Amino acid sequence: MFQKILIANRGEIACRVAATARRMGVKTVAVYSDADAHARHVAACDEALHIGGSAPGESYLRAQRIIEAAQATGAQAIHPGYGFLSENAGFAQACADAGLVFIGPPPSAIRDMGFKAGSKQRMEKAGVPLVPGYHGADQDPALLRAEADRIGYPVLIKASAGGGGKGMRTVDRAQDFAAALDACRREARNSFGDDAVLIEKYLQRPRHIEIQVFGDSHGNCVHLFERDCSVQRRYQKLLEEAPAPGMAPELRARMGQAAVAAARAVNYVGAGTVEFIAEQRADGTLDFFFMEMNTRLQVEHPVTEAITGQDLVEWQLRVACGEPLPLTQEQLRINGHAIEARICAENPEKDFLPATGTLAVCGLPEGTAFEHGAVRVDSGVRQGDAISPFYDPLLAKLIVHGATRAQALARLDEALARTHIVGLDSNVQFLRRLARSDSFASARLDTTLIAREQAALFQREDLGLPLAAAAAVAQTLLRERASEGADPFSRRDGFCSHGLLRRRFEFAFGDARATAWLTYGRGANWHLTVGEGAAQQAGPLVFGPAAQGIDLQFAGLRTHAAVYTQGEVEHVFTPLGATRIVAIDLLAHAGEVEAPAGRLTAPMPGKLLSFAVRAGDKVRQGQPLAVLEAMKMEHLIVAPLDGVVQELLYAPGDQVSEGAELLRLSAEPRITPHMMDK
Ligand code: ADP
Ligand code: ADP
Ligand code: MG
Repeated sequence: MFQKILIANRGEIACRVAATARRMGVKTVAVYSDADAHARHVAACDEALHIGGSAPGESYLRAQRIIEAAQATGAQAIHPGYGFLSENAGFAQACADAGLVFIGPPPSAIRDMGFKAGSKQRMEKAGVPLVPGYHGADQDPALLRAEADRIGYPVLIKASAGGGGKGMRTVDRAQDFAAALDACRREARNSFGDDAVLIEKYLQRPRHIEIQVFGDSHGNCVHLFERDCSVQRRYQKLLEEAPAPGMAPELRARMGQAAVAAARAVNYVGAGTVEFIAEQRADGTLDFFFMEMNTRLQVEHPVTEAITGQDLVEWQLRVACGEPLPLTQEQLRINGHAIEARICAENPEKDFLPATGTLAVCGLPEGTAFEHGAVRVDSGVRQGDAISPFYDPLLAKLIVHGATRAQALARLDEALARTHIVGLDSNVQFLRRLARSDSFASARLDTTLIAREQAALFQREDLGLPLAAAAAVAQTLLRERASEGADPFSRRDGFCSHGLLRRRFEFAFGDARATAWLTYGRGANWHLTVGEGAAQQAGPLVFGPAAQGIDLQFAGLRTHAAVYTQGEVEHVFTPLGATRIVAIDLLAHAGEVEAPAGRLTAPMPGKLLSFAVRAGDKVRQGQPLAVLEAMKMEHLIVAPLDGVVQELLYAPGDQVSEGAELLRLSAEPRITPHMMDK
């Protein structure tokens, strides 16, 4: 076995490879860019070398620099992960030339499978079924158009060098072909430096089913069954599972044999994936066609590890060392069902636009990391990390395993509920809805699933206003309690010598504004009223701190809420769903608009009843300053901070308008409105 390997990648896959290497007693070298100086993968390895700027072209794609790093640290082999240089035959060759082992297939196999068109020509010869299409070398636009006409619309134009879902265009009508071809070529040239395309019949409701294969240098080749990766957005996978639901053993065997034949046709060594597109025939059976081969470890390899009990990175290291495959085809068995969800920094509501920002909160469910478990969490980030625009938006993968699909699905739902991301957009709640959708839950899988289920997936609030508001109120009260001193004048529990105190909260929830009233009873008995009219919910609010959050009871529901506060925004996560609610501080806002710092203003129009202080008085935070009467209520204005009263600007009995400055305090204007019934 190798003593030391270099991992030419970043993020979760670099951490993943490092974990297996460590378990096997193999030392690891990380490489990193400027942006990744403090990244998790750097900490995961025994040594780390800086290799350049943040853009991939200045670091993770610098083949020569990475080879030098391996030589400088005495690494014997390079694991390329996925993406970056993993499918670069030139890099694999350069490693060999430098006396380093490339942990992957031989350069010739990468080259043979690297271009979709060329690989399809090879597969045709090997007798592997293909989607009807054109994959010739002649790229004359008139010929391509004639081929599209022959195949019949809709067709899909694909960049032959494409990958990662990029460089594809569907064409529904002959008259749109020329423009789509131009656009596809332009994108292919920009993304892959090569504008050759192929054309395929566009299947309307296909499934993406792929087979994991493994070859060794002794001529053995096996498959480790299939994965269904049909649930996609932008031609990229979002949920993956193994085995594929509904897969008959006979079909599994045929697809496995086709995949092994494909691998053998290019003398494949190492881990690879043969991707098929499958279409249901009228009689319910599946037709499958070769789509492409990915000559590397795949993002979704953990679902295969879960059902086979194998560690594919260990297999890669063993095979790269010249060892035979650990198991024969007959020894491989499927155990249970596994599902992977890709947690990405992206906004599903904005066409899955990747998001950047700081991971203010990154709470992941409990589970194993980079190895077997009922819940496995493979993550390449840590709380506090900046997610930059330089790399792909994958934050973490949740992989669940159960005896049945239903059990795996239940574990996935639970794991997603415990995944708390704050600070940037993520697809966590979307994934949860997706996993719960009728189509996914009942395994009606095909690549149109997200479009078909869109009503259930987009523009949804999983958690209604009542619980969101209750959680935000409870969080506020707990926060105030925590900051309270021992003396009775700083108590914020609503104690009041003349009657019940009511406190008004104003929220922005979704596109709407909402008001909640909290009544303070004796002995911390709270009563909450949220919303108005028919939608109003009222009742006791019972809450208390619990492990990682708050136990909460309101409006007939009892739940656990984790609440994270970012400025005015409360991010609420519960098993029932997650949402964000904005607690608007009316007084602070009135002050912001109407008055510069140092002033205290009326939250609404009303009559000034009394001042509790005089100019020159020293006041402490929370101390009453004035009482305003409005809407049949007395509004108690309290000092936002310790300070000195500079000037009173009205006299008792004066009518004041909203935003009117009542008095000046030598302190910042952030007031909590306390209100009491008259
Ligand atoms: P997988 O195929 O392993 O399921 P993806 O298709 O999402 O996963 O690709 C894995 C990673 O490799 C992604 O970061 C993707 O952007 C990148 N990738 C895949 N193919 C290419 C390519 N030809 N050129 C550049 N990046 C690629
Ligand atoms: P990439 O290299 O980007 O992974 P693929 O050729 O593997 O490109 O295709 C990516 C996805 O596009 C597939 O998983 C599938 O959802 C969709 N797709 C590819 N070919 C077809 C086709 N002929 N008809 C319908 N959908 C297709
Ligand atoms: Mg693909």
